Amino acid sequence: MPGQRDRLNTRVLRAGAPAFDDGAAPVNAPLVRTSTVRFENDAARAGLHHRREAGEAVATYGRHGTTTHRALESALGELEGAEHVLLAPSGLAAISLTFIALLSPGDHVLVQDSVYGPVRERIEPLLARLGVSFSYFSAGAGLPANDVRANTRLIYAESPSSFLYEVVDLPALAAFARQHDALLAADNTWGAGVLYRPIELGADISIQAITKYAGGHSDLMQGAVAVKDRDVARRLRDTHEALGLSVGADDAWLALRGVRTLAVRLAQHERHALDVARYLAEATGVVERVFYPALPGDPGHALWQRDFHGANGLVSFALRDATLADAVAFVDALRLFGIGASWGGYESLALIAPASRLETHSAWRGGAPVVRLHVGLEDPRDLIDDLAQAFRRIAR
Ligand SMILES: *Cc1c(COP(=O)(O)O)cnc(C)c1O
Repeated sequence: MPGQRDRLNTRVLRAGAPAFDDGAAPVNAPLVRTSTVRFENDAARAGLHHRREAGEAVATYGRHGTTTHRALESALGELEGAEHVLLAPSGLAAISLTFIALLSPGDHVLVQDSVYGPVRERIEPLLARLGVSFSYFSAGAGLPANDVRANTRLIYAESPSSFLYEVVDLPALAAFARQHDALLAADNTWGAGVLYRPIELGADISIQAITKYAGGHSDLMQGAVAVKDRDVARRLRDTHEALGLSVGADDAWLALRGVRTLAVRLAQHERHALDVARYLAEATGVVERVFYPALPGDPGHALWQRDFHGANGLVSFALRDATLADAVAFVDALRLFGIGASWGGYESLALIAPASRLETHSAWRGGAPVVRLHVGLEDPRDLIDDLAQAFRRIAR
């Protein structure tokens, strides 16, 4: 096992590497699939069962995962700076797990208004049925001092936010949460643990959709919840167990393969996205505004410089003097950017931001259609040529 003092990339590459057996070992963690865990004798079974009951991530049944899952969890733990990692079958399942595990009837949760849409559309109604009330705060309006209540048990942030990449002052929010005896959870899908480390900045819980950059190849669905505190981890583990959440070994293996090259892929996505963002910022005839926190002039730029270690491939922009029909014609004219949800794979994507989602973001002003690009690993000159020809198609 590498020492804690190794730098992050070294630790992430070594985490979960198999030990030598008979003087030799494979580089990669073996793909271990099983439903039944077989014990050498009953004492071994009882010992493992006891350790699991005490909160340790050991398996007594296939649903608890195998050494493949443990290797992935240890790599994600390095990325997030967390002792405990729980895997879920999707990013959304990881978020739901967090809400269900940490909230009880009568509790209140304070959610950033620019979060991933399904938190509002799917999780709020589910939790409302269980007696939990939601309210929303604007990350751009300072600390939510007027919105916090005596029964606020959880504050939920996503920095940078979905679609417009609103950056949150997470250290200030963490201090605020502690003052009010609430836990702070952050969706870290944008930063993936390489670009952003919410737990180091004071959050109690960091959640990632592994589906995006950690997976990195648009071939799997998965989520992870990383937690530092043992008691909070215990509550999450109990609910994880009750919900029967389980991730296939093949998907865990694929996700770990993605994590090994995460930092180098992100650096390339950032270089390409910066080229595209600068091109868009100069295309003032067709583009009203570019959203990318690494661009000077973006409202989140100063906080991004202070708290982040880089940017990813997500760039959004508002079209100038355009209708929704123009935006549709624009994305339809693109040849290299596929039209699709999700992001974080190697390929470029474009999606019109649904107005119903943007309207709930206090960071959003005005009615111009917004296009979200995921800038992939293609040659950025080809991507810019593609954007230019699509702009020409909608030029009046
Ligand atoms: C995609 C996404 C999720 C959900 O992940 P899935 O694996 O698609 O369920 C959660 N949060 C953010 C910020 C996302 O972009």
